[in-house]
Amino acid sequence: DGSARNVWIMSYLELAGLQKRYGASIAVDEVSLSVAKGESVALLGPSGCGKTTTLRMLAGLIAPDRGTIRVDGTEITRLPAHKRNMGYVFQSYALFPHLSVARNVAFGLEERGVARAEIARQVAEGLAMVQLGHLGERRPRELSGGQQQRVALARALVIRPSVLLLDESLSNLDAKLRDAMRHEIRSIQRSLGITTLFVTHDQVEALTMCDRIAVMNRGRIAQIGTAEDIYERPATRFVAEFVGRMNALPATRDGDGKVLLWGGRQQLAAPLEGAFDLFVRPQRMRIVAPSETVGETNLRVAGRVLRSVFVGDHVEVLVEGAGGQLTVEMPSGTALPAEGDEVAVIWPTADSLAFAREAA
Ligand code: ATP
Repeated sequence: DGSARNVWIMSYLELAGLQKRYGASIAVDEVSLSVAKGESVALLGPSGCGKTTTLRMLAGLIAPDRGTIRVDGTEITRLPAHKRNMGYVFQSYALFPHLSVARNVAFGLEERGVARAEIARQVAEGLAMVQLGHLGERRPRELSGGQQQRVALARALVIRPSVLLLDESLSNLDAKLRDAMRHEIRSIQRSLGITTLFVTHDQVEALTMCDRIAVMNRGRIAQIGTAEDIYERPATRFVAEFVGRMNALPATRDGDGKVLLWGGRQQLAAPLEGAFDLFVRPQRMRIVAPSETVGETNLRVAGRVLRSVFVGDHVEVLVEGAGGQLTVEMPSGTALPAEGDEVAVIWPTADSLAFAREAA
């Protein structure tokens, strides 16, 4: 139909059915992904899910067993790395230690035989963009981690790559610098309109740096969507558990539109047969007195407060009941329940997600 066709026309970077095996194990399993021109997409997933392998296939550093890669309509699946015009920033930055910062940035331009005056101009421009114009003569070891990171970024960007690939490139920085760099890279990416694929296992990074997130699990894309899609409407149990904090409450269907939840019968049109888990975000839950009645649009469980932990902008209250434990996130400044208090925990039914229990 028309919308599907538009998506196809908009697609700039296109992975179709990419697969990579190592012996009997499949590192990347039928990964398909369309990225629009100028879009930034994060590959987010736990260690070993195939993020780096996917990125390295894009860069041309390893060959896929199956599938195709296209950029702007041209297939590049078998093209050698240096002919792909991709900017790749590694986790380790991989700067040349014996070369000055300026020569590091010039490297890709020299390789392409760009004229010297033009190289000087573009290097100056690249270093200015990452705010390192004054450090061009230093060696990489004379720079901080964040500065090295920027040199690697400038080096990748001066060749005007068709696609920018970033592999956990902020993970060596301390928390504050990482946060600043996220915003800086995002703003450079946006102002240049450069199509970017970003590998991370850090959710905040994925949320702040990207237009869309592809959540990977065991070599496959579990879900792709905006940060809000992924967070509010996780498509699978894995995504619900991996992205953001979640409570999982064991539940059982109990006939005539009721569900057994933490020992109480609740009004809930259960979408699943038998035993399942009900997922609820801690910040959607509220603690009330056990005597308080809940409306029809809320669910409720009873429990006892194990402890409250102050974590700056909010308080986490751990509650234990018949079905196990759950965490409620309350704004700090609200009256806190005391340890040992008998309480009820309530939340809007619409904020619950049901997923089948996984076989152990
Ligand atoms: P991390 O976040 O830890 O970097 P990742 O998601 O990037 O993980 P990959 O590095 O792509 O994961 O690895 C995916 C799977 O393929 C892993 O199980 C890994 O052990 C395996 N693998 C990767 N490279 C090789 C290799 N050269 N030989 C054998 N197995 C490999």
